[in-house]
Amino acid sequence: MNNVCEICGEKFNEIYTGDIRDGAYGRCKSSAIIYECTGCKVQRLREDDCISDEFYETGQYRRKLKESLEGDQSVIEQDEMQHYTLEAFFPKSLRGANVLDVGCGAGSLLDMLKNVSSNQLGIEPCAPYLELLSNRGHKVYPSLSEAIKNEKETIDYGFSIQVIEHVKNPVEFLKQIKELIRPGGRLLISTPNRNDVLTTLLKDKFYQFFYRTQH
Ligand SMILES: [Zn+2]
Repeated sequence: MNNVCEICGEKFNEIYTGDIRDGAYGRCKSSAIIYECTGCKVQRLREDDCISDEFYETGQYRRKLKESLEGDQSVIEQDEMQHYTLEAFFPKSLRGANVLDVGCGAGSLLDMLKNVSSNQLGIEPCAPYLELLSNRGHKVYPSLSEAIKNEKETIDYGFSIQVIEHVKNPVEFLKQIKELIRPGGRLLISTPNRNDVLTTLLKDKFYQFFYRTQH
């Protein structure tokens, strides 16, 4: 790993070595290393401890987490999380808007926004989900670079929910999303809360649960 932070240019320090979660709860990877940037305080998992990009494309990632890839079950599992997303932008209305969900999974959020928004665009690398998504009327691309070719600056409101912690290069990720959003458009991002009270109370005991091979 390059020891220089891609975001601010400062150095990384090792802050944790030990067990982290690997897939569904109960499985773990030992001797994983977490670094923290001395400048902007972003944290990263050592690249060798991360699952590879293919996991996301083939659906192996969902299987590893014991999540569904087929039929209605996958979207029902993902419905639960949308409560927080919908609450986060309320009372802003998305009526008539072109919306984007980067890392849309089986399309749970796009489904919920379908009756108010005009167009729903999804980005999802997981091949088994792509057909499900188009069957339900969403336009989908397997990657941001594919979407940029046809959908530049078309989006009024973008979402990326619990995704940025999975990507290798978050700066590039945000720059690509920006190309899809029209001037004055908005983007709502969520990511796990590192400031969880349990990180202060339990420290290393909680780190084994909080850090995981897909983040
Ligand atoms: Zn930094």
